[in-house]
Amino acid sequence: MYKIFIDAGHGGKDSGAVGNRLQEKDINLSVALKVGEILKRHNVEVIYSRTTDVFVELADRASIANKANADIFVSIHSNAADNIAAKGLETFSYPNSAKGTDLAKCIQDSILQSKIYTSNRGIKTANFAVLRQSNMPSALVELAFITNVEDSKILRDKQNELALSVAKGILDYLKINYIEETKETNKYSPWAREGMLWGIDLGLTDGSNPKEPITLERVITILHRMSKIK
Ligand SMILES: [Zn+2]
Repeated sequence: MYKIFIDAGHGGKDSGAVGNRLQEKDINLSVALKVGEILKRHNVEVIYSRTTDVFVELADRASIANKANADIFVSIHSNAADNIAAKGLETFSYPNSAKGTDLAKCIQDSILQSKIYTSNRGIKTANFAVLRQSNMPSALVELAFITNVEDSKILRDKQNELALSVAKGILDYLKINYIEETKETNKYSPWAREGMLWGIDLGLTDGSNPKEPITLERVITILHRMSKIK
């Protein structure tokens, strides 16, 4: 099972960039949590650097991911510039990391496809601490400019769409098929959801009638299907 580390940039005493009555730390956290929720439908483990408005040191963000042995590291940020005309989407990876570049490209392309951006600034490399210190392929997405009026509206009003496209980009990189949020994926008890999706993915069950009692026929059929899995 893949472990995906989602890093909401800034937090607590570090507001990140501010502009147009928005604080970067709030946008980053909101989008990061939404990305995580979407990913969790896909039989992956999601680990966050923070899930609330708290300050986390840069070095700690990478070391939490390293200790958890995460497979990929994705940091979510909003951009800022003195020039309020500056706008658009860009995604960074660490210089000379082929997998990082691939991950950055998957995320950038997915957001471009969703059309939730004003200008394509492309994928770039940068010597950011979180990219440098994380042991796994990593990318840092700057969703839009908080200092630009047009971009700030995207950051304020299009968080669900942004989160969906970031999540789809991550799934693309991991070669996991995107599962639509439906009544089907929602009908399982929260505690059973991960297991049910795992069982469906392996072909042990089609996931129907999840709350029916288990009969001898059902249990033997599941065991039989399991015995065929290499
Ligand atoms: Zn930032």
